[in-house]
Amino acid sequence: MADHYEVLGVGRDASAEEIKRAYRKLARKFHPDVNPAPDAADQFKSVTRAYEVLSDPEKRRNYDATGHENGTGGMGGGFGGADFGGFQDIFETFFGAGGSGGMGGGPTGRARRGQDALITASIDLRDAVFGTEKTLEVDTAVVCPTCDGSCCQPGTQPETCTICNGQGAVRRPVRSILGTVMAAETCSACQGFGTVIPDPCRECSGQGRIRERTSLTIKIPAGVATGTRIQLAGRGEAGPGGGPHADLYVEIEVRQHDVFVRDGDHLLATMSVPMTAAALGTTLTLDTFDGEQEVPVKAGTQSGEVQTLKGLGVGRLRSNGRGDLKVTLRVETPTRLDDEQRQLLEQLATVRGEDRVHGTTEQRGLFSKLRDNLKNL
Ligand code: ZN
Repeated sequence: MADHYEVLGVGRDASAEEIKRAYRKLARKFHPDVNPAPDAADQFKSVTRAYEVLSDPEKRRNYDATGHENGTGGMGGGFGGADFGGFQDIFETFFGAGGSGGMGGGPTGRARRGQDALITASIDLRDAVFGTEKTLEVDTAVVCPTCDGSCCQPGTQPETCTICNGQGAVRRPVRSILGTVMAAETCSACQGFGTVIPDPCRECSGQGRIRERTSLTIKIPAGVATGTRIQLAGRGEAGPGGGPHADLYVEIEVRQHDVFVRDGDHLLATMSVPMTAAALGTTLTLDTFDGEQEVPVKAGTQSGEVQTLKGLGVGRLRSNGRGDLKVTLRVETPTRLDDEQRQLLEQLATVRGEDRVHGTTEQRGLFSKLRDNLKNL
């Protein structure tokens, strides 16, 4: 690749203004719309590329230091690479979008990819635990069955646009910082397609696709949560003009459950245990997603203790296995006692020496310790 300074014909110490002036002069000279020479387009690209690097202080500094530009993918391959973003930008700045026509890009195809779409699917917590299949109704676009995406009434064909002679672009003079140049502009008669459709398909009005309500069965894996998005590649709408299908995204919404709350891979539940049962021990029965399960309550259970049922939680999204089901036990103190019950409890309290309870604090504060020490002096 030629040295950018040589291409622009400026010294290495040229000011930004000198570089700009040199570029304008050369761009005007080599622009393919004014210069019919076969190598003009390449020269134009070279000077534009040089200008793009030298007009950007950071790129210029980098170029001065290393002798080449990096990071833009332009090395070695010369011009014409698909990732030549900077060049395209600068070109469009001067000559307007649609410049591809001016550079021999030719007409654009009628087929476009469809647009991605997002729909929401509400599922029950049980479905998130085990995974499920769900059938969704989707409003989408499908390939027109009459013209099969060709946009033409059956038996007819697209015709070459007579305004642009199939080029998809027309040239007209525009004023720019380079002076008046011939710039390519998308042909308004054919919208840049290069062809016109004399007899558009009546079913799809020449769009090549029609709107349709279809049903779609999707597999929802275990472990999804509210906000999880499932990508269905190629299951979105058909593109216009027989273009490729887009992707469909399904965003999951998990409905709240009356009994179970989700905590990551785990399920949480709370069960009440009568005071006497908590003291004596018992076994509770919980209706889980895996059927009825026994929840052991050992004698002397305190309120807030948790019993874990291994492997009865939510299926893991990206691995095997399931989380746990954690049951918090809440000991219920009776609130209404009849005479007999009160007497029995009073007897129990007497037997346990709890009939005159002062209560104990679990941790004595600093001040009470100080006070005790002072009393003992
Ligand atoms: Zn059609």
